[in-house]
Amino acid sequence: MVYRFSRCKVFMKKLLICFFLILILLLINTSTLAYTVDFPYGYEDYPAWIYCYSGFSSWTLQWMDSNCIQYSSCGCGSLLYSATPYLSNDAYTLGNNVNEVVHVYLDPLVADVDVLGITYMLAYVEPDGSFRSIAEADIGFNTYYPIGDATAYSNLYDVPSIGLHELGHLLGLGHSSNPSASMYGSFAAGETRRTLTQDDILGLCVMY
Ligand SMILES: [Zn+2]
Repeated sequence: MVYRFSRCKVFMKKLLICFFLILILLLINTSTLAYTVDFPYGYEDYPAWIYCYSGFSSWTLQWMDSNCIQYSSCGCGSLLYSATPYLSNDAYTLGNNVNEVVHVYLDPLVADVDVLGITYMLAYVEPDGSFRSIAEADIGFNTYYPIGDATAYSNLYDVPSIGLHELGHLLGLGHSSNPSASMYGSFAAGETRRTLTQDDILGLCVMY
């Protein structure tokens, strides 16, 4: 009897440990795994190539290049490459099969959107109207706001961070509720989020 009783106690302890483990896992899930995916099929053909406007500063062009390298070395496959030669025109055309990165000027009072950067998506659609894969995406840095190097000037919104975020949209990610993720939906002036987090990468690996 004593033996059976002690076995029972062990069993109960194991149950408790399991319960706590499940609780911890749930907490981790709600606090850190917060990505969303807008286009589960991503691109049918990837890596996707992005073409930046040649009039960007060499600093911006280098950052967009290293952002692409981050995406291609995150462990989900070769996802993004920056292309040369660059775009000669500071304008995007949705539907020309070129993923363009340019400046836009979007006054929130006029444009009906209040954004630091924007990604215009063109997707293949299923007969029932649901999105399938991405056909093309174009990115604009909004020059309505003061954008640049937030590590040098705390009044600026950080271009490398905005670029990394918009490239995530270009690949099909939605916004994350994790404030440290690149795909978190808002940025403060002076703030930088220049590195993909585990949350961003898990979302990418769902698609690719
Ligand atoms: Zn966004």
